[in-house]
Amino acid sequence: MWGWLRKRLAPPELAEPLWQFVLQSVPPLGLLSPEAQAQLRALSARFLARKAITGAGGLQPEPEQKAIVAALCCLPVLELGFHWLRGWHEVILYPSAFRVHRRHHDEDSGVVSEWPDELAGEAWEQGPLILSWQDIEADLADPFSGYALVAHEIAHKLDMLDGVSDGTPPMPAGLDWREWTRTMQAAYDRLCAELEAGREAPIDPYAAEAPDEFFAVTSEYFFSAPALLEQAMPDVHRLLRRFYRPATGLSPVQRAPP
Ligand SMILES: [Zn+2]
Repeated sequence: MWGWLRKRLAPPELAEPLWQFVLQSVPPLGLLSPEAQAQLRALSARFLARKAITGAGGLQPEPEQKAIVAALCCLPVLELGFHWLRGWHEVILYPSAFRVHRRHHDEDSGVVSEWPDELAGEAWEQGPLILSWQDIEADLADPFSGYALVAHEIAHKLDMLDGVSDGTPPMPAGLDWREWTRTMQAAYDRLCAELEAGREAPIDPYAAEAPDEFFAVTSEYFFSAPALLEQAMPDVHRLLRRFYRPATGLSPVQRAPP
């Protein structure tokens, strides 16, 4: 009886061979300190115990795929903590980009527009996180490119924790939302102005779509090409360091200066 209870209360674990497979498959994790790796392993195990990773479109996710998805979802909250992933319970994994049907009802004109769309990922407030495995694999094959689908969608999830998708997530201790909105808005406006002037954007121009996409896209850079972000938008890089990495202050894929 007590052995059974202890087993039930023990924190979930991720088996060593599975974790080694994750470390080999996700190159940026090799840059984490051994302590940070252990922390991520514990978070990933908790993720797998608490959230369902369901296949769709004919995909039946293998344990290895689930473990990789769990680690990628937990990497952004490595220092923030697992509770930042609260309010949703499922990841839906498609084999490749999935088709969705969009519908918009314009209240003023009464016009309903509908169109098909192809997506690599989508985050619903309180709902599932939807990901394309093919796009995750492409990120893993080129992990320092500035593209990081899962970091992008997790940023949307963090953003929506306060009920609105506006590019401003709840603030961790030590960070003030006024400072956040001032810095992000200024950088967003600069990017939009550069694009309008016909100049080449220093980061993926999709960031200029809306403030919530700006946060999601700059988060991708923070977790896959922080040096590029630091050069292009030093103030945004500094802010994201304080948001995602309140303890160590560096992107997990950035080595501390000697
Ligand atoms: Zn997005």
